[in-house]
Amino acid sequence: MLPLERKQKIEELIIERKTIKISQLSEEMGVSEMTIHRDIKPLIAEGMITKTFGGITLAAEQGKKSEETDTCDFCAGELTERLIYRIFLKGNKTMTACCAHCGVLKHRELKSDVTQAICRDFLLQTTISANQAWYVIDSSLPVGCCKPQVLTFEAEEYANRFVTGFGGKVYRFEDTLDIIYERMQQS
Ligand SMILES: [Zn+2]
Ligand SMILES: [Zn+2]
Repeated sequence: MLPLERKQKIEELIIERKTIKISQLSEEMGVSEMTIHRDIKPLIAEGMITKTFGGITLAAEQGKKSEETDTCDFCAGELTERLIYRIFLKGNKTMTACCAHCGVLKHRELKSDVTQAICRDFLLQTTISANQAWYVIDSSLPVGCCKPQVLTFEAEEYANRFVTGFGGKVYRFEDTLDIIYERMQQS
């Protein structure tokens, strides 16, 4: 596996498992712990993960950092943990949005500086990569955040079932960026 592939694999694993031991990564990837330490350096620099004793943890799981405010970096509305969309930027900066609506708008605005973005599965509350998520726009369930409402799901199947019950439409990440942006221009 090339270093870049390993970095991507580690990203996937940490999003999935939230916390992993260095020894475990070394074993699973078949490389030395020293190599793993080298691989995770950029991820720490990007602010995506933090080092713990003998391992790494997904930064978003550690709760709010002291310098972070508890308002949305796009609309300044209040943050609700279950709807949060977090963006990691070059230079070890993070942005937090109240929901995927503000998240994708902020993401679109800062796109060239974004290194990674995560959000939560609306039903399961697992942390998922924003690029891989399925987006439900305009469902009728009143979750009390921004309009047009955007909810995120890990699996297409569950997004589709949610739409069956609560309406709206399922989109992929790239389309969601443009759709919400255009809708906000019109309003
Ligand atoms: Zn917001
Ligand atoms: Zn919102």
